Amino acid sequence: LTFEELGLKPEILKAILEIGFVEPTAIQQKTIPHLLNTKQDLIALAQTGSGKTAAFGLPVINQIDSDSKKTQSLVLCPTRELAIQIANDFNSYTKYSKKLDVVPVYGGASIETQIKALNKGVQIVVGTPGRVVDLIKRKKLKLEDIEWVVLDEADEMLNMGFKDDLDFILSHTPDQRQTLLFSATMSKEVLRISNNYMNKPEEISS
Ligand code: AMP
Repeated sequence: LTFEELGLKPEILKAILEIGFVEPTAIQQKTIPHLLNTKQDLIALAQTGSGKTAAFGLPVINQIDSDSKKTQSLVLCPTRELAIQIANDFNSYTKYSKKLDVVPVYGGASIETQIKALNKGVQIVVGTPGRVVDLIKRKKLKLEDIEWVVLDEADEMLNMGFKDDLDFILSHTPDQRQTLLFSATMSKEVLRISNNYMNKPEEISS
């Protein structure tokens, strides 16, 4: 399967071609058609280096309504470095797309600066769980229009003690969301999240 055959928009194909992606990785070949064609939740067993960021990023970006400034997707990940990396990757995929704003939010940096960025209205927020909880409690991050929630490196987030934060965030997102969980391992805790917050997920591995 080629990226063209997966059904991505021309402006996204142009951007990823320019980055140097020639053919989709194994995980991308499975997640992209699933996410473009169904609203079914998804669990993907995927290691770092498998191309997992594009595996969830490309199909989500492909479906974001850029005419709306509402926050439509929330990506949660374990570290500040990863949040910045994911936001940068998303920005590279949207180089030729109509204006799409992606904002990373994480602890250890000015929350005021992040609030200013959110106040402009951003379609995608990528964040670490603690800071995301803080922003929700301050009513600066609105979740009512979220359609896609991505849990990236779910096992790592749980290992780092973000269980309560994930519970808080997931219980505040709309029921009709699509939830995508990416993890290198399927621990008991990951299964608990999946049992509590996911609806009949399709499970795939690369
Ligand atoms: P990730 O697993 O998301 O951390 O991605 C690992 C690396 O693979 C990153 O440098 C990506 O830019 C790169 N990558 C992702 N998808 C592809 C692809 N289809 N072809 C070539 N490189 C890719």
